[in-house]
Amino acid sequence: MTFESLNLISPILQALKEEGYSVPTPIQHQAIPKVLGRRDLLACAQTGTGKTAAFAVPILQLLQGSPRQNKSSKSIRALILTPTRELAIQINDSIAAYGKHLPIRHTVIFGGVSQHGQVNALSRGIDILTATPGRLLDLIQQGLLSLEQVEYFVLDEADRMLDMGFIHDVRRVIRLLPRERQSLFFSATMPPEIVDLAESILRNPEQVAVTPPSSTVDRIDQQLYHVEKTQKKNLLIHLMREMAIPTALVFTRTKHGADRLVKDLLKAGISAEAIHGNKSQNARQRALSNFKARTTRVLVATDIAARGIDIDELSHVFNYEIPNIPETYVHRIGRTGRAGLSGIAISFCEPEEKAYIRDIQKLIGKPIPVVSEHPFASMSAFAAQEIKQERPAPQPVQQNRQGQKPKKQRYFTGMNRSV
Ligand code: AMP
Repeated sequence: MTFESLNLISPILQALKEEGYSVPTPIQHQAIPKVLGRRDLLACAQTGTGKTAAFAVPILQLLQGSPRQNKSSKSIRALILTPTRELAIQINDSIAAYGKHLPIRHTVIFGGVSQHGQVNALSRGIDILTATPGRLLDLIQQGLLSLEQVEYFVLDEADRMLDMGFIHDVRRVIRLLPRERQSLFFSATMPPEIVDLAESILRNPEQVAVTPPSSTVDRIDQQLYHVEKTQKKNLLIHLMREMAIPTALVFTRTKHGADRLVKDLLKAGISAEAIHGNKSQNARQRALSNFKARTTRVLVATDIAARGIDIDELSHVFNYEIPNIPETYVHRIGRTGRAGLSGIAISFCEPEEKAYIRDIQKLIGKPIPVVSEHPFASMSAFAAQEIKQERPAPQPVQQNRQGQKPKKQRYFTGMNRSV
C-alpha cells in the first residue's frame, strides 16, 4: 500500500514524501478513501497512529478540489476542534507540512495567550481553523469569527474532551455549525457518553478502528520495579546514571510532585524540566522544545499536560507513579515505541500501588516483567512474587483501590455496533 494508491493529488504526495512518509499507517489507509468519498467518519484511534494525516490530508484535497465560489469570502471552511493547546499547535503544524504546496490558508487558536495575533490571522481569511473549544467560543461571542460556512468539521480526541470537562463547550460549538457538512469524529475510547455524542454529530458514518490499545503495547519493552515510595527518586536517579537513556518522559500524578522531582533530578546533575497545567503556555512550549532538542534529558509531566505531546523518538517512559485507571497506563507508554520503533516503559510500583498493577495486567492481558535486581529493592522480592503469581485472568469487573467499580470504558470494535 502506498500513498499513490489512495488517489492523492501530486502536491500532497510531494509534501508527504518530503515529510518522510512512504507508507500510509492503518488509520490513514482506512480513513483517507472514505473521507475523500465525502462520508462522515467515526474513527477509534489514539495519538501516535497517524490520525492527524488521516483527517488533514483528505480535507486539504477536498478543499483544493472545490475552490471558494466567492473569492473575496473570508469564511472558515474546515474546523478542527481539539482539547489541548499542544495538540492544536501540532495539528496546525501538520497541516502546514501536508499542505505546503497548496494555496490553502490555515491557522490555530487556543487560550492562555493574547488573542491579538490570532484575530489578525483570522481577519486575513482562513480555510482551515484548528481550535480549542474555549477560545473558539470566546472569539465567536465577540463577533470575531463565524462558523456558518463550515463545510468540514473534525472532532479530535473526543474522549479527552469529556475527561477534561469540555463536552458542553463542544456541544455549543456543534450547534453553531451548518447542518450540511461532513463530520469526522476521532476518539481513542468509546465510553457511552462519547457514543451518544457521535450519534448526535454524524450522519450514516463509515467506521474505522485501529490497534486496540492492548496490542499497541506489544512492541514496547515493559519493566516493573518494586520500590518503596521514599526511594523512587533515588531509583530514578540511579537508572538515569546507569542506563543509556537519551530521553525520558516521566509521569507523576500531581503538578507539585512533578516540580519536586525536577528539583531532585537537577540536584543530582540530571537536566530536567516539568510540564503541567500551572505552567504558562510559553513555559510549556519551551520545555517541550528543549526536550525535543535533547537539551533537557528528562521531561516530567502530569497526564493532562502530556496529552498531545508528540515526540517521535522517545526511548523511555517512566511511570513514576502508577495510574489508577489502567487505560492511562496504555496511553502513557504509547508515547514511546512510535512509528515502528521500539521503546522501554519502566514502572515504579510502591506497595500501595500493587492493585493498580493488577488492573493494568488484566487490561493488557499479560504480566509486566519484574526487575528485582536493583539497589532499592527493599521489599520487592516478596511483592514481585505476589504479583507474578497472579495470572491475568479474565474478570468481568475491575475494582479500583477504593473498591469502586471504575466507569466502564468500551473499546470500539468498529464492526458490531451501529452508530
Ligand atoms: P499522529 O497520530 O497524527 O499524532 O502521528 C504520530 C506521528 O507519526 C507523527 O510524528 C507523524 O509525523 C508520524 N506519521 C504519521 N503518519 C506517518 C506515516 N505514514 N509514515 C511515517 N510517519 C508518520
